[in-house]
Amino acid sequence: MSDPSNGPTRPAILGGEAVRPSGPPDWPLRDEAVLDVLKLAWESGTWGHYHGGHVKQLSDRVSRMLAVEHVIPCASGTVAIELALRGLKIGPGDEVILSAYDFKGNFQNILTLGAVPVLVDVGERDWHLSTADLKAAVTPQTKALLVSHLHGGMVAMPAVMEFARENKLPVIEDACQMPGAVIGGRQAGTWGDIGIWSFGGSKLLTAGRGGLLYTNRADVAQRVHLYAHRGNESYPLSELQAAVLGPQLDALEQRNATRASNVKELRELLLTIPGLHPFTESLTDSQPGFYKLGLQFETALWGGLSRDRFAQAMRAEGIAIDPGFRSLHRIHSARRFRTASLLREADRADEQVLTLHHPILLTESAAELREIAISARKIRDHAEEIAKLKAE
Ligand SMILES: *Cc1c(COP(=O)(O)O)cnc(C)c1O
Repeated sequence: MSDPSNGPTRPAILGGEAVRPSGPPDWPLRDEAVLDVLKLAWESGTWGHYHGGHVKQLSDRVSRMLAVEHVIPCASGTVAIELALRGLKIGPGDEVILSAYDFKGNFQNILTLGAVPVLVDVGERDWHLSTADLKAAVTPQTKALLVSHLHGGMVAMPAVMEFARENKLPVIEDACQMPGAVIGGRQAGTWGDIGIWSFGGSKLLTAGRGGLLYTNRADVAQRVHLYAHRGNESYPLSELQAAVLGPQLDALEQRNATRASNVKELRELLLTIPGLHPFTESLTDSQPGFYKLGLQFETALWGGLSRDRFAQAMRAEGIAIDPGFRSLHRIHSARRFRTASLLREADRADEQVLTLHHPILLTESAAELREIAISARKIRDHAEEIAKLKAE
């Protein structure tokens, strides 16, 4: 006989039954349309060509979709940001402003070029770049802003662009997490001088690896092309990678809509769980993308349970929730960056962001969506007991 205390109401991390014994859904989807293009690429031999038409097709398509002049596919989102910085002639001694809560590779890219990251705090309501803090960050050395839309939230692009224009600074807009999103009535990534996408293995559009940058600035495109063609293309996306992205672009709008509608539903479900708040949408005429759904974990309301332990307990239930990024000032030596203000909210973000991974957001089952809230509720009901578990 099984122990009745280990039933479905007991958290899996305490020996109970997991809410989703099969774990989170797989990514990528087993898309028949992707299989078709793989077959076609094999039949035509284009899978093994330098120039088989797929990369060109992808570039043209993104160019039309975003109404941008120049699209440059490359090996990853990280490489695209490096190329963007090079396209803006960022070099030793220059300063680039970015949010203290951001993707680590963005910080690293600035260092790679010998430039200095200047970190600004995030706003308390959405933990995205605080535009109020930008002014204090500018010096004669400032050469660019690098801003990222993260976890289903968004940077206030109208305010950022106004600031950038006043200070004559170019903007790199990292839309790796939300291709096809709309921010203040425009496609994400098209506010800035340069926009960035990633096709990494976990991303909404995936080729396993890959990325691209887009811009309307001919001077930037020319410098990037020059840099990326050192006798040969040195940072390319392959034909095979480009081929598998076509069908995913076909489905993007519809899948973005499904994810957005499920997030709306999930927001309602999570209202019943104190201390777990999804990032809110703060700009009108916007539909962010959901590579992750960011959540603020209000530690004080969880009876001593830490954010990391909560994530571990959710994973044990079969829900793909993880701690967010580490804030950049907390994982790098202070010699590597400059700050313009206190990073109080970035400190909180470092400790309190959770992210729900996107595949579950394509579900067509309301029951499956409810499993997320059921898991959180179960953990909440046993928070003190879970908090007392020894570290792994
Ligand atoms: C994934 C990601 C990147 C980098 O993309 P890769 O293709 O993995 O190099 C950059 N910025 C953000 C916000 C991302 O989420």
